[in-house]
Amino acid sequence: MKRFLRLFSVLGLGLALSMSAPALAGEKGNAHWSYEGEHGPEHWGGMSKEFEKCSKGARQSPIDITGAAVEKSPAIDFAYKPTKLKLWNNGHTVQVNYETGSFITVGKEKYQLAQFHFHNPSEHTLGNKPFAIELHLVHKNAKGALAVVGILLEEGAENLAYKAVFANLPKNADTKIDADLSINAETLLPSDRTYYRYDGSLTTPPCSEGVNWFVLKTPIQLSKEQLASYNGIFKKTNRPVQPLHDRKIQEAAAK
Ligand SMILES: [Zn+2]
Repeated sequence: MKRFLRLFSVLGLGLALSMSAPALAGEKGNAHWSYEGEHGPEHWGGMSKEFEKCSKGARQSPIDITGAAVEKSPAIDFAYKPTKLKLWNNGHTVQVNYETGSFITVGKEKYQLAQFHFHNPSEHTLGNKPFAIELHLVHKNAKGALAVVGILLEEGAENLAYKAVFANLPKNADTKIDADLSINAETLLPSDRTYYRYDGSLTTPPCSEGVNWFVLKTPIQLSKEQLASYNGIFKKTNRPVQPLHDRKIQEAAAK
């Protein structure tokens, strides 16, 4: 009887797994993660085997940036071209996919810009200070390694460079807007491109590690109305800061 029960429980577990697998494998093979509630960040790691880094990883992002060590570092060389401004509300953020041919180079490493998107409030904090929104410019090198440039957005004067993006945000999940114009992501950067650098992860499932993070030190100002146009669509789309563990944060000084 005991053996039968054990067998039954194993079968039961197998059945539960086989039933939950398709249910979890939602759109594009991703589990239905979210930023709040039962599928919120504290539960990501348990939602699927592929997401386990979200709870077990020791080099996770975002982080609070405090106590960075100043080091002579190469400047990020931005060589961006314009791309067609097609905005996609994927339910988690508004994302703009970038046409090929735009790059950053840091030292000897060259990464191609793949897309940019936003989080609100910011994911990274500076000395525990959050910002209204954070822009992520996601790049990939020839070996598939990722480098993300993060830019912190705060309330201030209206920002004309961000106008085309923030005036054309698709309000509903799974919708797209073709703004019928081009944008160069270089105009979204602050003039001072000095940065904080550390080794981290994707801030969304599957929370894969090995992401080279560059958070620009200088925030960008947008008007209250511009920030509200994004915050009116998404209430909260940021992962909480993660433990630093044994990592070092590098504050780049010009070489
Ligand atoms: Zn992001």
